[in-house]
Amino acid sequence: MKRTIVVGAGFGGLALAIRLQSAGIPTLLLEGRDKPGGRAYVYQDQGFTFDAGPTVITDPTAIEELFALTGKRMADYVELLPVKPFYRLCWETGPVLDYDNDQPALEAQIARFNPRDVAGYQRFLDYSRAVFKEGYLKLGTVPFLSFRDMLRAGPQLARLQAWRSVYSMVSSFIEDEHLRQAFSFHSLLVGGNPFTTSSIYTLIHALEREWGVWFPRGGTGALVQGMVKLFEDLGGKMELNAEVDRLETQGNKISAVHLTDGRRIDTPAVASNADVVHTYEKLLGHHPRGAARATSLKRKRMSNSLFVLYFGLNHHHSQLAHHTVCFGPRYEELISDIFTRNSLADDFSLYLHAPCVTDPSLAPPGCGSYYVLAPVPHLGTADLDWDVEGPRLRDRIFAYLEERYMPGLRQQLVTHRMFTPFDFRDQLGAHLGSAFSVEPILTQSAWFRPHNRDSHITNLYLVGAGTHPGAGVPGVIGSARATAGLMLEDLTR
Ligand SMILES: Cc1cc2nc3c(=O)[nH]c(=O)nc-3n(C[C@H](O)[C@H](O)[C@H](O)COP(=O)(O)OP(=O)(O)OC[C@H]3O[C@@H](n4cnc5c(N)ncnc54)[C@H](O)[C@@H]3O)c2cc1C
Repeated sequence: MKRTIVVGAGFGGLALAIRLQSAGIPTLLLEGRDKPGGRAYVYQDQGFTFDAGPTVITDPTAIEELFALTGKRMADYVELLPVKPFYRLCWETGPVLDYDNDQPALEAQIARFNPRDVAGYQRFLDYSRAVFKEGYLKLGTVPFLSFRDMLRAGPQLARLQAWRSVYSMVSSFIEDEHLRQAFSFHSLLVGGNPFTTSSIYTLIHALEREWGVWFPRGGTGALVQGMVKLFEDLGGKMELNAEVDRLETQGNKISAVHLTDGRRIDTPAVASNADVVHTYEKLLGHHPRGAARATSLKRKRMSNSLFVLYFGLNHHHSQLAHHTVCFGPRYEELISDIFTRNSLADDFSLYLHAPCVTDPSLAPPGCGSYYVLAPVPHLGTADLDWDVEGPRLRDRIFAYLEERYMPGLRQQLVTHRMFTPFDFRDQLGAHLGSAFSVEPILTQSAWFRPHNRDSHITNLYLVGAGTHPGAGVPGVIGSARATAGLMLEDLTR
């Protein structure tokens, strides 16, 4: 029997492949790189393990559900460890906020910033929970294929004032600028500018409060491996180093997949987990639908890119939390630079990952593996030469971390590597080197986002960050559920 093909083994592709295979649809997962995971790739170097991308694992119930629907237990494949605090938020002027689920402790910290904001935070949490219920629990896994679906969701979105930005909504509850930053930066985790992204994305706060923040033992790569094993245990087939070159069509249907190694594989249907522009422009560029869709997608706004620096030290910095957000001197202005300015700013805000705090096995004894990332403009916003800018930014970031967070860093350095917007573009096929695909603004969300099933090519489906609901591990796992629903309806008809 011909296998249904999923192109790309990111979290979205893997979750979809598991759902299809477990529903009895023989599935072939084709991954272009030498390891699965996509943005969740893993580097191993001199005994250090570096998760390349996602590190903040939220909504474990969505992952558990994937295992459960196949009759298996997640615990037999991967162990999720709780992370506390969820994040440590640090400002250059000295204030620190350890943010997690302990309400009294959190309120006591908020009161130190501004006593009036304790009540404001409680109202914000209520709002965030209401958005979470409507936007995530009800709509997060429903495919928006027709404008009618959008109109149906309209009244709730209007009631929740979805036209307002994340920052504006947070500011309507909270007065202190540090706290406004603390409760608005989350949309950046999925590529959304808190000053322009819909307030719907405040739901991330409620999601973290509801289910916590987790880290797989062995790193995020262990979760990827657990999902691959589940897929293969179910009888699914994954091929690595299997880059898809183009999708062969007969009229408005895909008939086969062509690989860059010259192979041709017949298939009844294809789901692409690859970048959406890459899917239409490269894989389907020979078909009028592919060319037209690529042109219209290129008019959409893409999320920012990231500069990521992975480094291993011969020292474990036990003073660090697992996740630290290092706010720089500017917030709104810096974010505006990242999303609109044709050059790199002189300052930065950073996210610092210190996974050995939770799982020391990720580095040799007494050592520490780390990564630090800075949001930067994508290549359409700032056409920079990252072969030049990368090493410069690396040196600035190392000096900054050494001065403020990790004394002795450069002396302790054993190994490091960089991942720049060029790598997002060249290694992941990301349009303009965007780290999170189509920017999650209201006019590019739900029905306005590329649909989970193409409207012309009847057996082409999308899964992952570029389709509904969007980026982030919970988002792409939700997209797999939405896409699988459509595929099962079509393929078992
Ligand atoms: C540095 C970083 C940190 C992040 N941190 C977090 C976090 O802490 N928490 C969180 O929830 N989210 C985080 N995210 C976002 C999250 O990682 C992504 O949104 C999500 O992993 C994207 O998954 P995806 O399914 O869209 O596929 P991707 O990960 O984009 O994978 C797509 C796959 O398709 C393959 N592919 C592409 N073209 C072809 C082709 N022609 N043939 C075959 N294969 C192909 C690629 O090689 C790739 O493996 C982070 C992202 C980055 C970059």
